Amino acid sequence: TRDLADADPEIFAGIRHELDREQYQIELIASENIVSKAVLEAQGSVFTNKYAEGYPGRRYYQGCHPSDEVEQLAIDRAKKLFGCRFANVQPHSGAQANGAVMLALVKPGETIMGLSLDAGGHLTHGAKAAMSGKWFNAVQYGVRKDDHQIDFEEVERLAKEHRPKMIIAGGSAYPRQIDFAKFRAIADEVGAYFMVDMAHFAGIVAGGLHPSPFGHAHVVTTTTHKTLRGPRGGMVMTDDEGIAKKINSAVFPGLQGGPLMHVIAAKAVAFGEALRPEYKSYIQAVVDNAKMLASTLKERGSDLVAGGTDTHVALVDLRPLGITGKDADEALERAAITCNKNGVPFDPLPPMKTSGIRVGSPAGTTRGFGTAEFREIGNMVADVLDGLAAKGEGGDAAVEADVKQRVRALCERFPIYSDL
Ligand code: PLP
Repeated sequence: TRDLADADPEIFAGIRHELDREQYQIELIASENIVSKAVLEAQGSVFTNKYAEGYPGRRYYQGCHPSDEVEQLAIDRAKKLFGCRFANVQPHSGAQANGAVMLALVKPGETIMGLSLDAGGHLTHGAKAAMSGKWFNAVQYGVRKDDHQIDFEEVERLAKEHRPKMIIAGGSAYPRQIDFAKFRAIADEVGAYFMVDMAHFAGIVAGGLHPSPFGHAHVVTTTTHKTLRGPRGGMVMTDDEGIAKKINSAVFPGLQGGPLMHVIAAKAVAFGEALRPEYKSYIQAVVDNAKMLASTLKERGSDLVAGGTDTHVALVDLRPLGITGKDADEALERAAITCNKNGVPFDPLPPMKTSGIRVGSPAGTTRGFGTAEFREIGNMVADVLDGLAAKGEGGDAAVEADVKQRVRALCERFPIYSDL
């Protein structure tokens, strides 16, 4: 990085600030992770320079042999990791992957059905503010009031009423496992495609601790940067050759131009890492740690949406403490713990305030925290929340300063990127 320091000291400084932040904050944002130096190196490689429109062996530019080499490796490793027949590794992001599926399988004005944003769904599943909600007739299902699990009676009723072209399962803040077979049965009843967006839990599927959507879904999308621990990006997979052809045309030339070959190289590295036995132990720890974090927060007075978690993420309902998600995530950042405010199902507060926070274990687990550390983290989070409950909006400065020191000590015991 010396070259950057000389060429652009301001950006160099910004990157050092981010490095310092990652090293000394505890990262509980459930959609984030800490990639290996190998992934960083691949992403920062000379593939940044290359145009490679098309697919391996069928490019629109010359000079693509090295690009073919790495993209084919990325595809082969993705197929092996998830046990599927086709993978398109070119989507620039999760939103692009979902957009490509819609471009391939649904026409504007046709009906799609997804989990609503306030029940834990994603914008790209038909939310009003997103393209998916504007260009399609988006019908949204939710979760049950009593246990916050997917309301399959509602899914079936809405599917029969609206006859969607595609039903989408998956979400960004849904802590429980999803019953893919039930979804597929409903999709078959109404002649819909069934898409699973496993962005959040893809790593848990790869690690064997979450049922696989393959065998149920017509098409599966994911991001590559969450539990999968790769570079920021997206991917689409299927077992159906006809759908695969449509997806390839939808990604390029339908939706995107040149693939980000440097990111694809980094995806290949991450998939290679996820194929190793150590990754299975990592995922087991991710799940154990999320359970420990969630149960500690429950013991300390918060409620857990859906009663707990089967995955890497827990949604914490702060109403028993009488505080909002907005005040909580700000207080926690002052104490060097990052998470995000998140609406809980049937939240009476607006999205910029919310009654909850979303917390996750993937990043902390990567740096080596185990259940003992996640118990300590849960207690630190609870100390900050108690301070907020006692003192109001601005929080308890003394408690936050004390937690910040404890966070620093913990981060020093589990260093990351020490030689960067
Ligand atoms: N799908 C789900 C379920 C997500 O949680 C997200 C990101 O939060 C996305 C898609 C979008 O991914 P990206 O931010 O890479 O566009």
